[in-house]
Amino acid sequence: MTSDLRDLYQELILDHYRHPRNRRRVQDANRVAEGFNPLCGDRIHIYLRLEEGVVADAGFEGSGCAISTASASVMTEVLKGKTEAEAEALFQSFHDLVTGKAEPDPGRMGKTAAFAGVRDYPMRVKCATLAWHTLRAALRGSSETVATE
Ligand code: ZN
Repeated sequence: MTSDLRDLYQELILDHYRHPRNRRRVQDANRVAEGFNPLCGDRIHIYLRLEEGVVADAGFEGSGCAISTASASVMTEVLKGKTEAEAEALFQSFHDLVTGKAEPDPGRMGKTAAFAGVRDYPMRVKCATLAWHTLRAALRGSSETVATE
């Protein structure tokens, strides 16, 4: 990654931390899940409203560090309008990105590519993936709290 791109990504993450998008309980949510990252203390609730297999609305509530909050904010933004299968595929590509198995591909991943730098900070990977693990639990209708440990 060039340092320009790194700066841009850092700015995007800070912006989503300071001004989280979709930080609210979704009216008529039909999928809900809770996640917890004991390593950092991040807690999150994900709310989804699925209509005929498509994410019509997505939101989150919780308290956590900058990375976990920004990740939830960006995730809920990119999810809207996606099918359940597309959301699962996004989970996989995000996971590969932050664990260093794939290079950032903004064309396919959108803003989620901004979290590529997290791979250099193993402690932060769980912060970045918490919202995504919780999303997957919500999609699968699991009511247990997701823990990253
Ligand atoms: Zn964290």
